[in-house]
Amino acid sequence: MELLDGKKVAASVKETIKQEVDELVKNGKRAPHLAVILVGNNGASETYVASKQRSCAETGITSTLVKLEADVSEEALLNEIRQINDNPEIDGLLVQLPLPKHINEQQVIESIHPLKDVDGFHPVSAGNLMQGYPTFIPATPFGVVMMLQHYNITTAGKRAVVVGRSNIVGRPMSVLLSSNTDYGNATVTICHSRTKDLEKICAEADILVAALGKPGFVKAHMVKEGAVVIDVGITRVEDAGSKRGFRIKGDVDFAAVAPKTSYITPVPGGVGLMTIAGLLKNTLAAYKLNSGYTS
Ligand code: NDP
Repeated sequence: MELLDGKKVAASVKETIKQEVDELVKNGKRAPHLAVILVGNNGASETYVASKQRSCAETGITSTLVKLEADVSEEALLNEIRQINDNPEIDGLLVQLPLPKHINEQQVIESIHPLKDVDGFHPVSAGNLMQGYPTFIPATPFGVVMMLQHYNITTAGKRAVVVGRSNIVGRPMSVLLSSNTDYGNATVTICHSRTKDLEKICAEADILVAALGKPGFVKAHMVKEGAVVIDVGITRVEDAGSKRGFRIKGDVDFAAVAPKTSYITPVPGGVGLMTIAGLLKNTLAAYKLNSGYTS
């Protein structure tokens, strides 16, 4: 069993991005610029946003945080988005999810300009991904394919099973793994809460991606000997013994499953870090698109 080390792979992706950004700035160009809108004070969202900003700083990408009160009106939020859409100095925009209940999330996602949609959640981005056109790939599945590529894990002809069908993780993950690309060409089954015989289907996977948000859901009997297991889950579970009062758990029962696998991602230290690497790559791509940059 080998650990798929998100820390190591993300650091190498970030280093490449940093070199490219340094080169741009050295040549008198402005640095890529990401804007993040954070609504309210959800603890997990604040942590994610802080981590995204830190990673931008590490790679030389400019980041701007727009913080809005939890009771901000939908119209005021849409107005912020329009201003950023129209700002030629900003390349990428993401609105941290989830949003307070009174705001229509879909409406917000659709109001982001597709050329600045670095989260890849806009229907235009999703449609392009479906049809195999160049686009912004949602950061988490993008991070997973970068990780597989880094470890030279071939996907072609493999049986892949993705548990979870959200627009953010499961569905784009299944599209990437089944695409006619270097990181695709797998035969993919997508499972969800209505799937029958889920355990049996998981146990047939050469590559198993767990993205359902149920801590420890994937047990040893659901995993084939020698499988590659990717744990996307991030759930905060209470832990009185921890300083923060909680710890992070993945969707895989790591201790029981790891010995059966050829490769497995730890949580934390796996996919979460790769997600940020995916976002940074998308931001650099948005910069190139929006500034007419040619390499
Ligand atoms: P969602 O809640 O949007 O989707 C969960 C999916 O899992 C749904 O499709 C749901 O099925 C399916 N599901 C839930 N319970 C079961 C079950 N018992 N059996 C089979 N399928 C089930 O979650 P997300 O996709 O947004 O996130 C999934 C996990 O990944 C979460 O833990 C989240 O925190 C984490 N995450 C991690 C990221 C990272 O950077 N590592 C980034 C984004 C998310 P149905 O559609 O039928 O309801």
